[in-house]
Amino acid sequence: MSYLRLLEVALRTGRVTRRYPKEEPLVTEDFRGSIEIDPERCWGCGACALACPPNALSVVGAVGGALYVEYFVGRCIFCGRCAEVCPRGAVTVTRRFELASDKLEGLRSRTEVETVPCSACGRPVGAESAVETVCEIAPALKRMLSLCPDCRSALFAGTLARAHPRKALPR
Ligand code: SF4
Ligand code: SF4
Repeated sequence: MSYLRLLEVALRTGRVTRRYPKEEPLVTEDFRGSIEIDPERCWGCGACALACPPNALSVVGAVGGALYVEYFVGRCIFCGRCAEVCPRGAVTVTRRFELASDKLEGLRSRTEVETVPCSACGRPVGAESAVETVCEIAPALKRMLSLCPDCRSALFAGTLARAHPRKALPR
């Protein structure tokens, strides 16, 4: 296309971009921005982290029993896969796109998940809402779900009382 023809088309079409930030940006209904995780719904199962193509999500168990889902928006490609796979519908893809930060830490966010502590060692057994749901469905598992996987193994092996002699262990 010649320059004159190009100029003609451009003049006929007019401006097709927005004068953002002076004007409102064009954010369509289908636009995918950063994600949000609902701490009330999240079970900390890690399905979103496994499915995330650029590893922008991770589930971290911290000292003291807390469980966090960490989101690094600097890696996010806004694909929405995490929302698709979350079994609890805890992930929402928002239309937020103004995400820049002058600090690396400004690109990280954490969702804290309430956990049930192991009655023997204090480490997290799992998300509180997950443990409650399983106990409601199968009350017979209540005793086992008061222990973390390691202490459960120790209970079966008969070594739990030796490992935590001062604790009142489940019977
Ligand atoms: S957001 Fe969903 S998939 Fe991710 S850890 Fe929580 S419950 Fe699991
Ligand atoms: S939108 Fe895609 S890249 Fe971003 S956190 Fe979810 S799965 Fe990962």
